[in-house]
Amino acid sequence: MMKFYKFTAPNYESDAMYSRRNPITWVYQYIVPGIICPICGAWTGNRRLFLPVEDAGLTELLKEKPYPIPMDDWYRIFGRAAERDNFAQRFRFAPGDVLGKPTGIITTKQVPNFIFPWEGGVLVTQQTRDIIIEANLSGCQFLKMDLIDRRRKKGKEQPLPTIYVLLITGRINQSSEMNRCPVCARVKASYSIDLNERYWDGNDFIINEAFPELIYVTEKVFTIFKDKGLKNFQCVPV
Ligand SMILES: [Zn+2]
Repeated sequence: MMKFYKFTAPNYESDAMYSRRNPITWVYQYIVPGIICPICGAWTGNRRLFLPVEDAGLTELLKEKPYPIPMDDWYRIFGRAAERDNFAQRFRFAPGDVLGKPTGIITTKQVPNFIFPWEGGVLVTQQTRDIIIEANLSGCQFLKMDLIDRRRKKGKEQPLPTIYVLLITGRINQSSEMNRCPVCARVKASYSIDLNERYWDGNDFIINEAFPELIYVTEKVFTIFKDKGLKNFQCVPV
């Protein structure tokens, strides 16, 4: 039986400690507003798409309406809005989509091996990326971030570190048993995650698409990160 670990931030003593150990703050560029469904109420999804937005009209729409809007308005504005920009042909926005080039504000030169800017979000340093690639750990990709320098003067004399978003591409998807709201098409998984090997695609980094904020890794990942002495993460056996 394959052994998996939940990969997550350490348990910090306080919020202040969390901020100190995760010194890059995510900069939200474009957010698709939430939707107010007559059945479900107001809701937003949790997709982070890292897609650049180029159409000026579209950027206006995305900036102007950050709050949930009535369903009819939402579909009128965003039902076909993706066609304005260079998105893939069949791409459709979903309420709450976060878009734009990954960008963060860096506040210190002391950057740990892993940074957790939000639940399920993982940033890594060049060193961490090199270790992952060298060890042939599978199921992830790297997306280089833009950094806004807010380090104190002393730190600014040093070059900015190179930071990547760790994109999890491995999957452990069980049955596609989903509840779909008949009115707004909101999708809710009607199961909890089953880390059974038969659903596993064989990658070292995996998520279940219905719960993208929960990242799981193989024992190989845990062993390598531990052996290399990497800091600011934990692997919890599941
Ligand atoms: Zn609904």
